[in-house]
Amino acid sequence: MALTRESVVHGSKARPQDLPSVDKLLRLAAVQTLLDAHGHTLVTDEARALLDGLRARAVAGDLPSESLEADSLTASLCAQVEARVAPRLRCVVNLTGTVIHTNMGRSVLPQAAIDHVARMMSGPNNLEYDIAAGGRGDRDSIVEGLLCEITGAQAATVVNNNAAAVLLTLAALSHEREAIVSRGELVEIGGAFRMPDVMASAGAIMVEVGTTNRTHLVDYARAIGPNTGLLLKVHTSNYAVQGFTSAVPESELAQLSRERGVPLATDLGSGSLIDMAKYGLPKEPTPQEMLAAGCGVVTFSGDKLLGGPQAGLIVGDRELVGKIRKFPMKRALRLSKLPLAALEATLMLYLQPELLTRELPTLRWLTRSEREVNAMAQQLLEPLRAAVSPRFEVSVVALSSQIGSGSLPVERLPSAGLSITPVLSGKRGVGTALDALAQALRGLPVPVIGRIADDCLLLDVRCLDDATQVLQQLGALREALA
Ligand SMILES: *Cc1c(COP(=O)(O)O)cnc(C)c1O
Repeated sequence: MALTRESVVHGSKARPQDLPSVDKLLRLAAVQTLLDAHGHTLVTDEARALLDGLRARAVAGDLPSESLEADSLTASLCAQVEARVAPRLRCVVNLTGTVIHTNMGRSVLPQAAIDHVARMMSGPNNLEYDIAAGGRGDRDSIVEGLLCEITGAQAATVVNNNAAAVLLTLAALSHEREAIVSRGELVEIGGAFRMPDVMASAGAIMVEVGTTNRTHLVDYARAIGPNTGLLLKVHTSNYAVQGFTSAVPESELAQLSRERGVPLATDLGSGSLIDMAKYGLPKEPTPQEMLAAGCGVVTFSGDKLLGGPQAGLIVGDRELVGKIRKFPMKRALRLSKLPLAALEATLMLYLQPELLTRELPTLRWLTRSEREVNAMAQQLLEPLRAAVSPRFEVSVVALSSQIGSGSLPVERLPSAGLSITPVLSGKRGVGTALDALAQALRGLPVPVIGRIADDCLLLDVRCLDDATQVLQQLGALREALA
């Protein structure tokens, strides 16, 4: 049994019969710590898997005898157990330049929301309990008051995400009835959210009006009939139609809605709760403006420009929101206590607007000055250069960040970052070298995600608050590239 250093002949290959039994492996002194930490079931499973793998290699005559030394076996077992219990959901460093990155969890929660979630999830809470009355309460009441105060709505309800908010609104207000929508607003959002399909899923009869580039008030007016349930406006958040275009503003559509007694719902998508223009950012319509313009219902996301958790917010007229809340599908789409706690704390920040650019990561990053972003890039320049030389050269460059998540698709924010290029005599091998570098960055303990463009790997540091997140991993990067 090759469990001791002395019994191993270096350079020789182990035979299948040299492998220890699972029991013997588990009795090794160093394995006791693993057993204490993770229990018998998992460690035994992994020990068996490890030995199976080693046996296959031994059978193939491909297993160095050293692999069966006690140290080597325990190290392998440790690594395997650690890999097995390592979460699949991991932190990454988002240096893509896209602030609200859907693939990276969209908005990062403000600390107040993280604290509130942690506190509320550590014990029972009054999610659906009316403390004053001592009986059953309504989970919507946790945030309804806040949402009404912030948006000026009469009523509000919340669901799992904005896709759910749109689905529920359509189902509750236009099930088996016509919903009128402009051909210019039949959007597809990432992840197979296509307005015509959502309308069909909700059981609404889609009535398209106007054309791709131009829709007029009279188009809506002519389409209204006895079975019309809803007028629907969709904010074309992830693309822009330019040139000879015309869309009917909510205020005009709202007047038609009142005259004909057909409710108007607007899907805003992002729905920033503050005027972005105030921060020098591109203008995005707010739910407040939509309600003031006369929309009956407005739906928007919690984790886009709002900067909170995934959630779908529905605000508007008391009667319409009441209908939506009572619709049976609501129960299947309701928000769980986790995001509800995060949403409450995030909305609370909007009562203190002066705090927003400091406390809301999304807004902090969007409003970060070019000078500050540039200073962060400068701070990383030399250490990064040292880590990737001599194979790569690094420079600080001006970049343009995107807001992301379909918000303001054509707008760019002046930013800065690092550009890394392979040191090669010609163009050959540039792509391979950049792919290898990007892979090495993704392979770090906290993966660093950049983007490749124009024969460079670009690291936009707009969303990097703390340089050490990158600096302390540069040793590992250097090793990975060696
Ligand atoms: C993002 C978006 C949605 C979907 O919102 P989720 O919160 O991702 O479900 C729906 N409509 C529009 C216009 C959007 O921009």
